[in-house]
Amino acid sequence: MARYTGSVCKLCRREGMKLFLKGDRCYTDKCAFERRGYPPGQHGQMRGKVSAYALQFREKQKTKRLYGLVETQFANLFTKAERTRGITGSALMALLERRLDNVVYRLGFAASRKQARMMITHGLFLVNGKKVTIPSCLVAANDTVGAAGKAEEGSSVAESLKAVDRRGIPEWLSLDKTNLKGVVKRLPLRGDITMPVEEHLIVELYSK
Ligand code: SF4
Repeated sequence: MARYTGSVCKLCRREGMKLFLKGDRCYTDKCAFERRGYPPGQHGQMRGKVSAYALQFREKQKTKRLYGLVETQFANLFTKAERTRGITGSALMALLERRLDNVVYRLGFAASRKQARMMITHGLFLVNGKKVTIPSCLVAANDTVGAAGKAEEGSSVAESLKAVDRRGIPEWLSLDKTNLKGVVKRLPLRGDITMPVEEHLIVELYSK
């Protein structure tokens, strides 16, 4: 699977908002977006007329980068959202939230979605008691997601959990910090996703 290997801070600067791709560093004054909140590159500070297509394209890129997906994965998820009953944009956002890597991140077991993906592929998490190594796996209501072992002091899970209070746990999930287990109380609704994403622009882009 293709993956982006460049600077992730450039992605935040390109999209004009903090995407929180680097874990703890994103909350410090070392954040590149805090220091240089304009797009990277020679022409980054130039302003031009923005077309409707550019707006739609940037919204898609922003959402894709926020969840750490490549183009094919994102397009496949959009196709799945189109086949779902209801509003396509909301269905897309719900599918993105239901990915296992996102759930591990939201529960505070990893500092970023990227770290969550790596930990999942290394077999560090159980879904309903069974080891799952596929970050794109979608969780369902009443599923349990837990760490495979104990969170020893200094381990990635233990370190990440220290920051969970700052980020907060979304209402559709619950966390048992002692037993390192999370429960999907219900499927996520559009209102549960607080990141500023205008998904209707993505729907317009893919509908062309
Ligand atoms: Fe984005 Fe985090 Fe880098 Fe700041 S530190 S620019 S939020 S990835």
